[in-house]
Amino acid sequence: MPEKITVGTATAKRGELQKGVIKGIELNTTTSIDIPVLVMNGMKDGPTLLVVSTQHGIEIQGTEVVLRVMREKVDPKKLRGAIIGIPVENPLAYMHHQYLSWIDNLDLGGGGSGSLLTADKPNGTATERLAYALWQEAWSKADLVINIHCNTRPDSIIFQEINIGNPKTKEKMERMAKAFGVTTLVVNEPLKDDAPPILSNLVAKKGVPDLLMELIDGRWISEPSTTVGVRGVLNIMKAFDMIDGQIEPQQGIKIIPGPCKEWGIVRANRGGLIRFLKKPGEFMKKDEVFAEIYDLYGDVIERVKMPADGYTWAYPCGDILGTNTGLQAVQTGANVAYVLTQESK
Ligand SMILES: [Zn+2]
Repeated sequence: MPEKITVGTATAKRGELQKGVIKGIELNTTTSIDIPVLVMNGMKDGPTLLVVSTQHGIEIQGTEVVLRVMREKVDPKKLRGAIIGIPVENPLAYMHHQYLSWIDNLDLGGGGSGSLLTADKPNGTATERLAYALWQEAWSKADLVINIHCNTRPDSIIFQEINIGNPKTKEKMERMAKAFGVTTLVVNEPLKDDAPPILSNLVAKKGVPDLLMELIDGRWISEPSTTVGVRGVLNIMKAFDMIDGQIEPQQGIKIIPGPCKEWGIVRANRGGLIRFLKKPGEFMKKDEVFAEIYDLYGDVIERVKMPADGYTWAYPCGDILGTNTGLQAVQTGANVAYVLTQESK
């Protein structure tokens, strides 16, 4: 660990917690939109952990996780390594209560349904410049990344997703997921040489593992997301010997035994109101009916079935990625449910 670590305007010497900003962009009012950052430098050597939240502006549970870990739980005098905490990665999305940046409708992680945003454009649009600044100042300095997102509804299943297809990060990804201890979706996709330079691919190319965390009730700061998130981050720090202590198993939430695989999205074939007959996390057989779409006269017009043996983990309803809000009503093609299956042993 260097004597000091600098992220944006924050410089932390050994044993210090400091705050500052990563310089962002200017609005047409000349108002600066910068990204607040906390930096904690330990007394002894160890990895640099980056914990980011609110890449999507309506997913704020991770803000509290970052603050509790850095302001209450970890003592910089006892830390081995460093923590960089970014409570709100995309202030342009967050300030307008929107999933994406209001200014150019982009997702700074490169995901979502908008056009692909890469983090290699210092002269790009507003959100591209934020992504570039985040890469330069924070992501490129990390040895481990926890990227905290949320599903909207509180009845969703808390889960994490790891890609084990990159031999450079596989072992660390599995160690992080085991330590965090929630339902785990495993993806196995090799990282291609020509993979676009979005933030997650840039770190993957360096051999830095990037754990995607999905808490629940994303628009509020609430339990169980706070406790599960804080416990999971501290568990990862214990697993990588950054702090002392035993790994604490997660409790008080549904954990689907895994590894699990993402089946995909079940979409509506008819339009109307929708009612759900099963809860996320309840095991269902293929073809079991878990929701009904009914018209505005009250007649059921579609019974929505499970596409495979498995579970739903969230009901986004009409809340298609990139839109502002959900409604318990769907149109043809709307996302009804996210489905996962258990990998055959
Ligand atoms: Zn998200």
